[in-house]
Amino acid sequence: MKPIRGGLKLDGKKDTTAVSWTITRPSPPRRVRIPLSFASDITVLPTVRVGESVRVGEKIAETKSRNSVTLHASISGKISEIAKFPHPLLGESESVEILSDNKDESLPEIGHERSGWELLSSSEIQRILGESGIPWNQPSSPIDTLIVNGCESEPYLTSDHSLLMSHPVEILKGCEIFFRLLGARNLLIVLEDNKEEVAELLKSKIFFNTWSHARVEVLPSRYPQGHETVLVGSLLKKPIQPGHSVWEVGVVVQNVTNVYAAYEAVVIQKPFYERVLTIAGECVAQPRNVWVRIGTLVEDVVKYARGFLRPPEKVVLGGPMTGVALGTLDIPVLGESRAILGLPKEVVRLDSIEPCIRCGRCVESCPVSISPVMITLAAEKDLFEVAQDYGAPFCIECGNCSYICPSKRPMVELIQYANAHS
Ligand code: SF4
Ligand code: SF4
Repeated sequence: MKPIRGGLKLDGKKDTTAVSWTITRPSPPRRVRIPLSFASDITVLPTVRVGESVRVGEKIAETKSRNSVTLHASISGKISEIAKFPHPLLGESESVEILSDNKDESLPEIGHERSGWELLSSSEIQRILGESGIPWNQPSSPIDTLIVNGCESEPYLTSDHSLLMSHPVEILKGCEIFFRLLGARNLLIVLEDNKEEVAELLKSKIFFNTWSHARVEVLPSRYPQGHETVLVGSLLKKPIQPGHSVWEVGVVVQNVTNVYAAYEAVVIQKPFYERVLTIAGECVAQPRNVWVRIGTLVEDVVKYARGFLRPPEKVVLGGPMTGVALGTLDIPVLGESRAILGLPKEVVRLDSIEPCIRCGRCVESCPVSISPVMITLAAEKDLFEVAQDYGAPFCIECGNCSYICPSKRPMVELIQYANAHS
């Protein structure tokens, strides 16, 4: 790992044997627990009762708000409980538990092409995404450019890479759906230079589609290349002020999972109830990418990779930079969970925190060019205005400064503390 101006060149630790043209689809789990609360403060209400039978894809919860959120059964079976269960981000959450009937019976329309999907209006696409459980907020400003983010710059993660390799045509259809929904004029698909073969594949398909509005951009691998503020800054040279959205400069950034899910929802009438997830880390017996039903417990997902070779020091849900360390494996996979990592002691840094040695490495690695060292030194003394002056509100919480600090100072926590008191 070394700092480069505005980012980190990390040891990718990406297992390329886990990237292939096909993605394993294991048998559905015996049970799932689907949380009804989201980290974004949204809570949805169950539309099913304990004892009811459900098929795969059937609606089990919804909100009635403008930006509607809908949840669907990810296995077929009986609703066994609606109660509080552990949640990876919230501690606990009201959740719907389904016990499998081992039939894996889905709604009849799933998998069948929707007739006339190419002619759907923007409002019809928006309605379908909402009803299919795909996170989507309609921008309040006119959008010129859709960026599809396939960078995947955190170490270990290869789920987007696999999805792009195995389903390039479907992903381009998903791009077309979002492009039409937004009324955009330009489409940029952005990859890092560790996915050159995917870039060539997509370029050839764009050429044969004669899409003059679309292009593939390949950027050098660095973390956090895929953060939307960094992407818009490096591709379009448009700085985003703290508290402002990329919408305000006419841009929407979508990730590969969402784009693929939009294809499935609009074209083959399949709600969002499963996703591709990377199981990796030095402790995992057979690192791989697999399709995982939302709500599958981490302890069951780990079995898809033949379990752990040795006990991990830390199990992380998500990437090593932005994921959450799990205290228990009795935790469900969420729609946004990109990976499960089993990390050994030599990778997890548990050493003691030392004073700042003013090496400047955190400043060099910061992608938004603020001064993490000055902000955190100010935060330690409760000098919140000073922390503001050094740019605390611009922090995107990428974790680079914490990761690179030789004194192992809790940089992100201190910056969050400063911002919470401003
Ligand atoms: S966490 Fe914030 S301060 Fe630290 S490197 Fe990332 S953006 Fe900069
Ligand atoms: S906070 Fe850490 S990385 Fe930054 S200057 Fe101090 S010792 Fe170096």
